Amino acid sequence: MDLFEYQGKQYFARFDIPVSAGGIAHTVDEAVAVAEKAGYPVVVKAQVQVGGRGKAGGIKLANNADEVRTHAGNIIGMDIKGHLVKRVWVEHASDIAEEYYASFTLDRAAKKHLLMLSAEGGVEIEEVAAKNPAAILLQHIDPTVGLDAAAAKAAAVKARIPEKAQQGVADILVKLYRCFTEGDCDLAEINPLILKPTGEVHALDAKVSLDGNADYRHPEWAEYAATVELDAREQLAREKGLQYIGLDGTVGIIANGAGLAMSTLDVVNQVGGTAANFLDIGGGANADLMAGALEVINSDQKVKSIFINIFGGITRGEEVANGIVEAMKRVELRAPIVIRLDGTNAEQGREILANAGIPESKLTSKPTMLEAAQAAVALAK
Ligand code: GDP
Ligand code: MN
Repeated sequence: MDLFEYQGKQYFARFDIPVSAGGIAHTVDEAVAVAEKAGYPVVVKAQVQVGGRGKAGGIKLANNADEVRTHAGNIIGMDIKGHLVKRVWVEHASDIAEEYYASFTLDRAAKKHLLMLSAEGGVEIEEVAAKNPAAILLQHIDPTVGLDAAAAKAAAVKARIPEKAQQGVADILVKLYRCFTEGDCDLAEINPLILKPTGEVHALDAKVSLDGNADYRHPEWAEYAATVELDAREQLAREKGLQYIGLDGTVGIIANGAGLAMSTLDVVNQVGGTAANFLDIGGGANADLMAGALEVINSDQKVKSIFINIFGGITRGEEVANGIVEAMKRVELRAPIVIRLDGTNAEQGREILANAGIPESKLTSKPTMLEAAQAAVALAK
């Protein structure tokens, strides 16, 4: 679950990471009220979950109430890279001497936590990585050992953080690591992490992604879940109780079982295609479920073909086939289906599909996962 900047900052504050005083505003009047409390000058910041808000005009400095009115008026309702700005965060503006970058993530391959630290912050870290990779310190942290003050200081030195800021950066690294581990984050990023002219180090931005697997021990996360913005497809899938994740490709995917659904994405990729989604219909395959799944995929304008990949275990082939035939009567599909049906009662299932009177242009059956993937990808091109 990705947090908005203001939620990330509130999360940081729980771990004593210094952030600026501010508040959230949904209207121009609220923005002025927050600004009066925070003290001028203030920054008015669009709350959308996408980087580069500054360049897009979503972050503005304001010296008085009139300027807050102007900027908040412009920013609320603004579209930033396809994200509608519904609220702004208004905080007391900071003076900036220097901008750094710090983040913690999990490096799954190494089975370790990864600290990324750079004296070149304020720009997208991907940009720094492309232009000057040597400017980013990548350091693994053994989760059984953790990160203590000495190790954090050594990292700051190694990342060539200027001496005057090393101690302040190290202090924040220790706190950010606690936030990352005890706070159950997948990502905890500060960009920019600033040095003020007065010498303090301070988080000016917050990008936090929480690990959903840990939500059972964080009842307080419920307030964040309430502001999660799903795209239209994900919203529809949730209403239908489907395990769906929207992606950017052109081949719609329906599979039974999370493992098979993941493999299906891989195979589509392997033969040169791109998946439009992950969708696991689980153990059942009745007409309601199938119609719901097809409806969600059909709502995705990018989808050019649909790959249904079913391996029957408890799910029986004839039940799947009947489900598809029935679902196709209910949903007017824009894209052709390629199905691979195997496992329990697959023969019967294929027979039902073959005798259902559905034209080849709308549904074809392939004997293997690979052939079905190739056919679906060819149709999507
Ligand atoms: P992003 O562009 O979406 O990553 O938004 P940030 O919160 O990182 O802000 C972008 C840039 O705006 C920062 O790198 C700063 O240069 C500038 N900025 C943000 N807050 C302040 C502030 O309080 N004072 C000043 N002087 N600049 C700020
Ligand atoms: Mn930023």
